[in-house]
Amino acid sequence: MNWTSDYHMHTPLCHHAVGDPTDYVAQAKALGLSEIGMSDHSPMPRDDWDDWRMAQADLVEYVAKVNAARAAHPDFSVLLGLEVDFIPGLEGWIKDLASRHDWDYFIGSVHYVSGHWDLDNPKKLSEWRKHDPFEVWSLYFQRLTQAATSGLFEIIGHADLCKKFCFYPREDCTPLFNTFLQAAADCDVAIELNTAGLRKDCKEIYPSPAFLKLARKHGVRITFGSDAHAPSEVGADFAYAINLAREIGFTHWCRFKGRERQFVPLN
Ligand code: ZN
Ligand code: FE
Ligand code: FE
Ligand code: ZN
Repeated sequence: MNWTSDYHMHTPLCHHAVGDPTDYVAQAKALGLSEIGMSDHSPMPRDDWDDWRMAQADLVEYVAKVNAARAAHPDFSVLLGLEVDFIPGLEGWIKDLASRHDWDYFIGSVHYVSGHWDLDNPKKLSEWRKHDPFEVWSLYFQRLTQAATSGLFEIIGHADLCKKFCFYPREDCTPLFNTFLQAAADCDVAIELNTAGLRKDCKEIYPSPAFLKLARKHGVRITFGSDAHAPSEVGADFAYAINLAREIGFTHWCRFKGRERQFVPLN
């Protein structure tokens, strides 16, 4: 098959992934990919924010690990990305992170819908049970729309992450999707086909095929990511994701280098 780049993968610095970037590259080469991008969980202005991201002092080591993978595999393209949490009020912090290294892209992800609730955290299922799903999904997409218009990101991560544990609203969420997608189109931000959803309770790619059809209608661009937290997950379900994109009518995917975009034909 013709592969695309895999732009979403993690390192042990976030405390819940295994394998160094070199191992992810080795797996990518074995599969026949020609490029990957690392995108570990960004540090926050406070290191005690949560327990699933790198500390501020680790950012330099993260970049060093990516550079070590590049040195070990000079025949292979390894991009330096970051999965950055979008939280309103942290825009200055995100700009500060952007100024520190030669990034190829930032993935903007919404995990937090409030000061203390990261909605994809399996330890916080009790929060889901306390809230009406539509209220949570509305908040989530409001933040995701702000992330799209912030100008801080090339790519928006796992755009319907709120479905992870199958707390689906009874209401029609199409207007929430459309508002976000119009913002992504207007601000020229890509969304990723993130295959990790297939490995979660929801058993469905992020975002859903129906969501992707709307994205296509709005003219939103795409990338691909496995959200690998282990080398064995690199390129997971890419055949499915690439076929799905093609079926829906996407003709190109986006390549990023130095935060500049290129369109690559999807064939
Ligand atoms: Zn993670
Ligand atoms: Fe994420
Ligand atoms: Fe991730
Ligand atoms: Zn992710």
